[in-house]
Amino acid sequence: MVTRLEQLRQVLPVEVDAILILKPDNRAYITGFTGSAGYVLVGKNMASILTDFRYVEQASAQATEFTCLDYAPSLHDALNKALNDGNITKLGFESDFVTFGNYQTLKENLVVELVPVTGAVEKLRMVKDEAELSYMQKATEIAEAALEMILPKIKAGVSEAYVALELEVAMRRLGGERLAFDSISASGPRSSLPHGRASERVIQTGDFLTLDFGAVYNGYCCDMTRSFVIGTASPEQEKIYNIVLEAQRAALAAVRPGIVGKDVDKVARDIISAAGYGERFGHGLGHGVGRMVHEGPSAGSKSEDILQPGMVVTIEPGIYIPEWGGVRIEDMVVVTENGYRNFNRFSKELICL
Ligand code: ZN
Ligand code: ZN
Repeated sequence: MVTRLEQLRQVLPVEVDAILILKPDNRAYITGFTGSAGYVLVGKNMASILTDFRYVEQASAQATEFTCLDYAPSLHDALNKALNDGNITKLGFESDFVTFGNYQTLKENLVVELVPVTGAVEKLRMVKDEAELSYMQKATEIAEAALEMILPKIKAGVSEAYVALELEVAMRRLGGERLAFDSISASGPRSSLPHGRASERVIQTGDFLTLDFGAVYNGYCCDMTRSFVIGTASPEQEKIYNIVLEAQRAALAAVRPGIVGKDVDKVARDIISAAGYGERFGHGLGHGVGRMVHEGPSAGSKSEDILQPGMVVTIEPGIYIPEWGGVRIEDMVVVTENGYRNFNRFSKELICL
């Protein structure tokens, strides 16, 4: 098996001798080291983690392919020594992460030329291995069991914030280590806000309620959305819900290796547009998920990303009508050799609570 370290070496840009990894998710992904601080250097013939006293032992245990060093008393002296030992003169850095201030400090103190590099580790992260997929499956199972558990508590008279908190506590109790993101709990007219954070609004009979939420398991996120009606659905609510559901199912059916992200988006968008609501579906169809809730590849209307087996994307069309309400249905799927596998099993029929 080719390790992640080896894969990174293979995709390092030719302009650099090594890369300095500071992004926490990239550091954990490449090294296995889960501590909160560490400077990772990867070159053709070198792999080092420079960290502080708190983490040297943990880093040595977790990152077995790496030389783990305590950088005390001077980080920059330790980095310069490692760079010198590795014959590094051109060092890539994550220019989409390093702040201008940190860049200036590195530039002043390191004896190498700094070269901006983006997306090297992120590109590897797009394709998940079996272990990562199993964590994401578990995260989804936690989220779905939590939703099932709290459904009886959702009714007219409780607030959006109450529903979100109940959901969040349930996910933690069921083994979620944290939330994948701030839960969205948007009811009534607020459900037309695609990213309506839970507010104090009291849920009323006749409302749509959209819940978009996720748990993290072993460092991996899940992301799902379901929309409900409180009480009895009106014909208009049923109509809008069913358009979104039809678009979601059609887009799912289009997921397979080789399809371009924007073409999956188009399948859903065409259905919503044909029904007259194209203007009311104002966001991309989906996004990658992994250690971050939003990562590559994209399944949005401009995405040129080509889906490959092992990539995880969400499929989440929606219709949002200002001052009336909105619906979104979101599943997370992994691309397989023949199509896709859905992490979610929670019903997508319109549930009236
Ligand atoms: Zn979501
Ligand atoms: Zn999403």
